[in-house]
Amino acid sequence: MSRTPIIAGNWKMFKTVSEAQNFFAEVKGKAEVEGVESVICAPYTNLPALVEAARGTSIAIGAQNVHFEDNGAYTGEISGGMLKELGVKYVIIGHSERRAYFAETDEIVNKKVHAAFRHGLTPIVCVGEKLEEREAGETKEVCKTQTEAAFEGLSQEQAAAVVIAYEPIWAIGTGKSSTSEDAQDVIGYIRGIVAGLYDEATANAVRIQYGGSVKPNNVAEYMGQADIDGALVGGASLEPASYIALIEGA
Ligand code: PEP
Repeated sequence: MSRTPIIAGNWKMFKTVSEAQNFFAEVKGKAEVEGVESVICAPYTNLPALVEAARGTSIAIGAQNVHFEDNGAYTGEISGGMLKELGVKYVIIGHSERRAYFAETDEIVNKKVHAAFRHGLTPIVCVGEKLEEREAGETKEVCKTQTEAAFEGLSQEQAAAVVIAYEPIWAIGTGKSSTSEDAQDVIGYIRGIVAGLYDEATANAVRIQYGGSVKPNNVAEYMGQADIDGALVGGASLEPASYIALIEGA
C-alpha cells in the first residue's frame, strides 16, 4: 500500500504573525512538491494568517496543541472546534516538550487524540524515549506503551488516519539524530503495534514520521527506509530555504 509522505514543520514558540507571513511568501509555490504533503504547525496566533496565506496552495496548516474538552472554563486553552473553524487540518499531540514541561500524560494525550477526531482534525501523535530509557534498552517498550495509550478507544477508520511521529527525545534539537536504520527498526516495530491493535491493513495505512534533528542533508536517508513516511522537523523548518530543501529532499 502506498502512503503519501508527510513533512511537518514544528515551529514551537517561534515567529510573530508578520514573520510567519514573510516565511510563507518565500515558500509558497516552492515547498510544494507533488506526492509530498507539506504541513506547517505554527503557534496559535499565526494560524488565521497562515490559513489565509495557504489558500490555493497544497500546504496544510497545523496547530501544536489542542485542549481535550470542547469548551468550558479552561482559561488560556484552545479547543478543536476553534481550530477547525479556522481551517486548521493537523494538530501535534503529545510532543515530548508538552509531556515534559506541561505534564501531559498518556491519558491526556489519548483524550486530545479523541478531541482532534471529534472536530475533524488529523492528529500527529508524538512518541519516543528519553536518553536513559534508550540506554536501558527500553526504547520499544516506551513506544509501545505510548502508542497503545494514544490509540485507546479509536475506531479502525480513525486509527488508520493517525500520523505518528517517532521522536527519540535525546535527538530533538540536539543535532544528534538517530541513524536511519535505528529509526526504521523502531518505526517498523510501532507499525507492528498498530497491526496488533487493529490489523495489517490499518497498520499499513498509518503514516509514521521520524523526528529528531532532521535536516535537508539527511531527510532523504530517512525517507529511503521502508516504514518511514516523513519527518516532523523543528529547527530546520524555521528558515524558508531550509524548509523548501526538506520538502524537495523528501
Ligand atoms: C521537534 O520539535 O519535534 C523536533 C524534532 O525538533 P528538531 O528537528 O529541532 O530536532
